[in-house]
Amino acid sequence: MAEAVRKVALVTGASRGIGRSIALKLAEDGFRVVVNYAGNEALANQVVADIHDQGGQALALQADIRDATSVTRLFERVLDTWGRLDVVINNAGSMEMADIATDNVAALDRMLNTNLRGSWLVMAKAAETLGEGGRIIALSSSVLAKSFPGYGAYIASKAGVEGLVKVLANELRGRQITVNGVAPGPVETELFFEGKSDEQVQRLAGLTPLERLGQPEDIADVVAFLAGPSGRWVNGQILRANGGFA
Ligand code: NDP
Repeated sequence: MAEAVRKVALVTGASRGIGRSIALKLAEDGFRVVVNYAGNEALANQVVADIHDQGGQALALQADIRDATSVTRLFERVLDTWGRLDVVINNAGSMEMADIATDNVAALDRMLNTNLRGSWLVMAKAAETLGEGGRIIALSSSVLAKSFPGYGAYIASKAGVEGLVKVLANELRGRQITVNGVAPGPVETELFFEGKSDEQVQRLAGLTPLERLGQPEDIADVVAFLAGPSGRWVNGQILRANGGFA
């Protein structure tokens, strides 16, 4: 891709895990990549260095997706730096286990704040910023179909994200911008391993017919498909990338 026409992609939560792989893959595909992070500046800078090493262009920018002012500043800084924005991936998220109990309502608030309010703010700003050919992609989760005990707050937040994806696709009618969700099954990241015994990890890995956990790269390839030319006709969909963990 010629330097002058290199598209720009913003990946939230790209300091580690799935977001990191998405950033690396999009850079490999020719995008200039904004590596957003919440607190892990050193890790985000390492992702930028890795992208530079593979011949790409990247920039690390801190922003808390729960905060409207922070998200607005993030988008402004992208435009100030590179003058355009073509693809926005809202990947940043967190997961907290909590049974549905009165005393656990704070866990619900935290999940809704990061995963749903954060998606709203990032998708809204993307809708206000992107032009023709733009792509908006939000991360949901395949665990929605499982309804496992303890996942109530997380599932509620991600079900909300799936709702936002479909509504925003309709709200952007005529703008030539697609909006889609990607819903991974279990993927080997800190978010997944946190608080799980080896036994629980093995059991979850065994739930896919492919009998393994997903790798961040498995998800990055799907996101890159939606963000690239081959994904142009996919709109308002939730793509379940989970090895058959249905
Ligand atoms: P990780 O916990 O490995 O990474 C989370 C990333 O999100 C980090 O970069 C973190 O930044 C960032 N982040 C967290 N909170 C905020 C915030 N408020 N503002 C900005 N950035 C924030 O998560 P995964 O890679 O596993 O998950 C990525 C996405 O995929 C999430 O939306 C998750 O729900 C979804 N998903 C994951 C699955 C899995 O099994 N791993 C399965 C299904 C869905 P920092 O490093 O600075 O803290």
